[in-house]
Amino acid sequence: PKNDNIQVFIKDRLFARSEAKVSVFDSSVQGGDAVWEGLRVYPEGVVCLDKHLTRLQESAKTLMFADIPSKEFIKNAIKQTLDANGMTDDTHIRLTLTRGEKITSGMDPRLNQNGSCLIVLSEWKPLVYDNNQGIKVISTSQRRNSPQFLDSKIHHNNLLNNIIAKIQANVAGKDAGLMLDDRGFVAELNGSNLFMVKNGKVFTPFGHACLPGITRNSVIKMCLKNDIEISEEDITLSQFYNADGVFATGTMGELTPIVEIDGRSISKNNSLQIKIIELFKTEVRNLCEKI
Ligand code: PMP
Repeated sequence: PKNDNIQVFIKDRLFARSEAKVSVFDSSVQGGDAVWEGLRVYPEGVVCLDKHLTRLQESAKTLMFADIPSKEFIKNAIKQTLDANGMTDDTHIRLTLTRGEKITSGMDPRLNQNGSCLIVLSEWKPLVYDNNQGIKVISTSQRRNSPQFLDSKIHHNNLLNNIIAKIQANVAGKDAGLMLDDRGFVAELNGSNLFMVKNGKVFTPFGHACLPGITRNSVIKMCLKNDIEISEEDITLSQFYNADGVFATGTMGELTPIVEIDGRSISKNNSLQIKIIELFKTEVRNLCEKI
C-alpha cells in the first residue's frame, strides 16, 4: 500500500502512479527496445550512481538511441522523483530508457523520431532476499547470451532468456535459476552475479557471458583492498557444488549466500564468506553518492 500513491517521472515530468503510462507506440512495448538500471537508495545517497548512469548511457549508445539524456538530466529526474515521494531509504529505483515513441508500428529505429524516453520509477522495497537465510537455486536449460548473439555488456530489456530461467526455478520451487554460458561454464543467476569460495580464495566467472555487475565489481575491488585473493575463472557446475561457500551479488539483493544448488547443499558458515558479506555492509554505505 505504501507504493499506491507514488509519483513516476516520464520523459520530462512527474505523473501520479495511475497516470504513469507509455504509449502503445513506445519501442519498449513493441520490441523490448529499451535499456535499464536498478538503483538502491540509502540515507547516504544512491549506491554507485555514476557507474549506473555510465552503463545506461553506454548501453543506449551501443543501441544508437537518439537524444540520450545527460547524467545531470537523469540525476535531476531522480532527485525530483525521490523528493516528490519523500524517499530517503529502503528504496529501489528502476531507471528505464526506451528508444521512444514510434510514428507507426514496426521494428526500424528510424520510426522513432521523438528521441529516447526516460522513466524513473522509485518504490519502497526491501532487499529481495533474506541474507541470513540464503537462497536455493537450480541450474536451468536456458543459456545466458554470449557476445556471439547479444552482448551481455548491454544492459537491455530483452530479458526473456532470464525470465525463462526464472520460470524454471519457480516450477522447481527454488529461488533463482542458474544459467550456464554457451560453452557450459557457469555464467550467473537469472538476475545476479555469482562468486564461490574455495580453500581460502574467492572465484567468479569471467565477464564473457555475464552482466559486468556493478556489485560484482565492488566486491572484486573490496577483496583486493582487504588482501583477499580473488580471480576470474571458467568455473564448472561441479566446482560450484563442491565450493566452501557460494554467494550471489546484485544491487537488489546485495550479497546473498546460496545454500543449495541442484539439491547439493552448501554451507553458509564459511568464515571468509561471512567476512566478505560483513565487509560489504559497511562498504555499500561508502559507495553511496548524494544527488
Ligand atoms: N546479472 C543480471 C542478469 C542482472 O539483471 C543484474 C541486475 N541488474 C545483475 C547481474 C547484477 O548487476 P548489478 O550488481 O549491477 O546490480
